[in-house]
Amino acid sequence: MPSAYYQPLEPQASDDNDERWAIEDDDEQSCGQGGRSSQYQHQHTRCYPQLLATGDQLPSMGMAPRLRSAWSCRRSYSIMLLLIVICVCFVGYFFVSPQSSGQGNDGGAEDANGIYEPHNGKGKRRHIKLILGMEKIPQDHPFKATISKRNHGRIHGTNGHALDEPLHICSESPEDRRVYIQDKPRSAYAQLPVIYFVTPTYPRREQIPELKRLAYTLLHVPRLYWLVANDQERCDTFLDTLLSGFGIPYAHMASPMPSEFRKSKPAPRGVANRRAALQWLHQQNITNGVLYFGDDDNTYDLRLFSEIRQTQRVSMFPVGLIAEYAVSVPVVRDGKVVAFLDSWVAGRRWPVDMAGFAVSLAYMSQYPNVNMPYKPGYEEDLFLRSIGLRIDQIEPKGANCTEILVWHTQTKNKKSAVVRLESEFLDGRSNLGALFRSLKLMGVASASDSEGPVATISKNGKSKSHSFFLS
Ligand code: UDP
Ligand code: MN
Repeated sequence: MPSAYYQPLEPQASDDNDERWAIEDDDEQSCGQGGRSSQYQHQHTRCYPQLLATGDQLPSMGMAPRLRSAWSCRRSYSIMLLLIVICVCFVGYFFVSPQSSGQGNDGGAEDANGIYEPHNGKGKRRHIKLILGMEKIPQDHPFKATISKRNHGRIHGTNGHALDEPLHICSESPEDRRVYIQDKPRSAYAQLPVIYFVTPTYPRREQIPELKRLAYTLLHVPRLYWLVANDQERCDTFLDTLLSGFGIPYAHMASPMPSEFRKSKPAPRGVANRRAALQWLHQQNITNGVLYFGDDDNTYDLRLFSEIRQTQRVSMFPVGLIAEYAVSVPVVRDGKVVAFLDSWVAGRRWPVDMAGFAVSLAYMSQYPNVNMPYKPGYEEDLFLRSIGLRIDQIEPKGANCTEILVWHTQTKNKKSAVVRLESEFLDGRSNLGALFRSLKLMGVASASDSEGPVATISKNGKSKSHSFFLS
C-alpha cells in the first residue's frame, strides 16, 4: 500500500525507466529515440556552421582547415556512437541479467518434495513454474508497438521483472461448501460473476486471528474465490486446515518475498504474494470475474462486494484510514473520476491504495504484460499502468465515492511471545499443554523451560509455584 511514511521517490529518470513495461504512453525519454535524435540534431548544428565557417575561409586557406573540421565532426560522431553503444549495452545488461529478470530467485524456492510441517514451519508444496508476461504479444494488440519497442514484449528489471517466479500451491479447493450465504441458499447466487479475493499474508503472531476475522467476513460473500498467498518459503499446514475448514473456494500458495528485498527498507510487502496470485489466475486461464486485492488486516463492508462485482474495467472507491488524511479517495464530478485525493502523491498517476480498486479479469486479460513491481509505495500505480487504464474509464463505486466500504485498519505487530513454563507440566494433567501446543502452531506464543518471563499462575489473587497447581 502507499503509505505516507514512505519517502516520496523523487521523479527521477530511473522512475520513468521503471515504467519500461508500462503500456500507456509516457513522456519518457530513454537513451534511444528522443534523446538520440535531439543529440544528433545538436551535433549537426554544431558541426555545420563550423564547416561553413571554414568553407568561408577556403579561398585563402585551402583544403586543410576543411579536412580538420570534417575530422573533428567525424570524431564527435564517433564519440556519440560510442556513447550510444555503451547506453545500449547498459540497457541490455539491465534487461537480461538473471537477477533483474527474477531468475536469480529460483534457487531458494525449488524444493518440491518437502514434508508438511506446522505453522511457521515447513511443508510440502506443489511446484509449478509458470511464465506470465512473457508471451508473444498478439499482432493486433493495441499497444504492441509500444510494448515491443521498449522491452520486446517482456517485463524486466529489478522492480518490474516478469511474473515468472515458481508458483507453489500448498492446497486448494474450488468447491463451495457453504449451504447458505447471508439469507439465501448458495444456488441463488449462481449467476453472479466470481470475485477473486487476493490476500497476501505473512507469519507473525497476529496472522491466524487476522485471517479468521477476514474469513468470517468472506463467509457472507457469495461467489468468492479466496486466493491466500503466504509470505513464506514452505507451506503451512495449519493454514491448509484453517482455510479448507471455512468451505469457501480457496487456493493457498507459498509466495516468499525474494531474499534480496527482505533487507530493503521499506520492503515490498505483499508483492510476491500478489504476483503469485496473478500467476495463479493466469495459469487457470481465468478471464471472467473480478480481481480484488484484500489485505489480511483491512476491514471490509459486505456492500463492497456487491459494488465491485459488476466492474467492467476498473472500479475505484474510497479507503478509510489511509495515512495523513485518514482517507484516500478519487474525486468524482458528474459521475466521473477527475482526480485523486491522497496525501502521498509522489509522482503517482494513480495515487490509490491497493484496497481502493477492483479490476475486471476480462479487461485485465487483454494486457499480457500485467505486472506488480517490487517497488514499495508504487505497486498500485505501476499495476494500474500495466493494464493501460485511462481516467475516463474508471467506474466510481460507493455512491460516487461518498461511502467508505473498506478500511485500512492496522493491527499492532508484536513478536511471538515466549513464556517460561516447565515442559514437565505441559502434559495431560492440565489444559496448558494442549493450549501452548496450539499457540505454538499458530505462531502466537511458545512455552520454554529456560527463556521468557516466568508464567504467573494465581488463585485468589495470590501466585504460587507451577508445581503447586500443575504437578
Ligand atoms: N505482508 C506480507 N509480507 C510482509 C509484510 C506484509 O505478505 O513482510 C502482507 C500483509 O499480510 C498484508 C499486506 O502484505 O496483507 C500489506 O502489509 P501491511 O498490512 O503490513 O502493510 P500496510 O498496507 O498496512 O502498510
Ligand atoms: Mn495493512
